[in-house]
Parts: sequence; C-alpha cells; structure tokens
Amino acid sequence: MRGKILKGIAGFYYIETSDEKIYECKAKGIFRKDNIKPLVGDDVNIDIIDEEKRLGNITEILPRKNQLLRPPVANVDQAVILFAIVKPNPSFNLLDRFLIMMRGQNLPVIICFNKQDIATKEEQEELIKAYEKCGYKVLFISVKEEKGLDELKALLKGKTTTLAGPSGVGKSSLLNKLVPDADMQIGELSRKIERGKNTTRHSELFYVKELSGDEGFDTFVIDTPGFTSLELRDVTKENLMEYYPEFEEYEPLCRFGGCSHIAEPDCGVKKALEEGMISKVRYENYKVLYDELRNARPDY
Ligand code: GDP
Ligand code: ZN
Repeated sequence: MRGKILKGIAGFYYIETSDEKIYECKAKGIFRKDNIKPLVGDDVNIDIIDEEKRLGNITEILPRKNQLLRPPVANVDQAVILFAIVKPNPSFNLLDRFLIMMRGQNLPVIICFNKQDIATKEEQEELIKAYEKCGYKVLFISVKEEKGLDELKALLKGKTTTLAGPSGVGKSSLLNKLVPDADMQIGELSRKIERGKNTTRHSELFYVKELSGDEGFDTFVIDTPGFTSLELRDVTKENLMEYYPEFEEYEPLCRFGGCSHIAEPDCGVKKALEEGMISKVRYENYKVLYDELRNARPDY
C-alpha cells in the first residue's frame, strides 16, 4: 500500500494512504541498514499488519524529489513564510534569515503578510518595496476577514508547502482555514504519545483535500515549528551578498572589486541605497548579519 508520512514521533510514523486512512507504522530495521531515516513528506510503501487497529510497517521509502535539512522534511515544492503586517510587527532580521536559509536549499519562497485588516496602505507599500524588489512573491491576506485566501490557495494547489512563521502572526488560524479537520488528521494516539513524552512539537504534514486535483492526493501543507532561532550555516560574510540579489546590478559600480558594501568608499550599493533603489530595511539587515558573521567563531 502506498502512502505519505504525515508525522514522525518517538519511532512511530503516521502515514496517510491514498484512500485517506491513517496508519500508525514502525520502520523496522531496514532503514538503519541503508542509513536513511524516514522523513515527514516521504512517500512510502507499507505493509498493513492490522487493518482494524490501523497498524502497519514501512517497507520502502520511495525516491525523494528533495530533502531539506531545516526543517527536516522531504519532497517539498515551496515555502510560505507568514508574518503579520502589524501586531506583532515583523522581525525583518528573522525574515531575511529565513529567506537565506531557503535560498541555500533552493526552495522558492512566498512571503505572506497577514492581518491586512488592521494595517495601513503605507505599511503594505513599505513591505512590497523591500521584498518584491529582490524577486519574492509578496502576498497580503487577512485570515480574519478571509481576504487574499483564494490567491494563496491557488499557489498551494497541487504542491507540498512548508508553512513557517513566528508565533502570534496567525499561523494556526490560517492552518485551520486550509485544513478544517487538522486536529482529526493525526488523531488521538499521536497526541497521547506527544503529551506523555513532553516533546517539543514536530513538523506535521496536512493533506488539503479541498484543493487537491483530479488525481486527488496532491496538496499538502507542512506546519513547521521552532522558528525563533534560525542559524545561518553555509553562509559567510564573503558570500552573504549573494543572498541579496537586488545588490547585484549595482556591484559593478563599486570602486573596489570584492567590495563588501559596508565601509568602502565609492560603493555602488550604498549609492543605490541613498537613491532609494535598494530598500533600507534590506540593507540594514545585511549589515546586521554581516557583523554577526564577522564576529562568529570560525567552525573547526
Ligand atoms: P499563531 O501563534 O501564529 O498560531 O497565531 P494565531 O492563529 O493563534 O493568532 C494570533 C492572534 O491573531 C489571535 O488573536 C487571532 O485571532 C489573531 N489573528 C489571526 N489572523 C488575523 C487577521 O487576519 N487579522 C487580525 N486582526 N487578527 C488576526
Ligand atoms: Zn560596494
């Protein structure tokens, strides 16, 4: 039987089969041998051990389209990062860190700002200026007033999307709109294990029925917890500017080759900043991250 891993916790995997049943499975030894661990998002084959109790065993992990390290999930097409326009105000530092992380893993990102109902036009224009310029799709929604949700849904359809965002921005409210029976999908059993183990929350994949196409089983949203500390590995102060694609066209105007755009004179990027061609928010973040990377202890 073919299925998809919705959630893994304490050695149990919750697998939804294409007939919309959920089986609690173990991954018997074979994976330790091949040194591959099942991930949320994996397509798998399972043997059903007990149909009544919905118990099974994973026998095969099908080839992965891709695999993210952070969050550890497989077969993801894109990421949606959710912030609020206000209440709480977005942390641009966190947003840029997230964008850098996803760019490093070659994953397209849609930036989604919620709570449009309590924000001004100016506040929204500011955000567009900063983030559309560097090539991201920027979407404004109000979960509360159900505005912009159709556009978001159109972007999700037929894809597996990881959804991330700091707390308070409306992530659970949005998830509830997209997956009205979210709480039902995994069921009591896994919640009991979770409570018992007092674990931190895990990534969890939800099947979005309403949006699935003719083949039926193709739209998923992954709720990814743990957003507060996004470490930048693989990024150095020298290559940080590669994550700011909007700088590129001004770099030939810098007087010095290899200009870091921080303290050098006659810097094309800083000039573009002064002329309002580059967003202040983005540039300030670049500086903060640059400083952080400069002060970081080298990795041995
Ligand atoms: P989470 O911490 O990201 O899961 O956020 P919640 O979904 O729990 O929402 C946090 C608060 O924001 C709650 O009080 C929601 O009612 C409120 N909220 C969510 N969406 C909207 C929205 O579109 N507009 C407004 N004004 N409030 C919202
Ligand atoms: Zn420069």
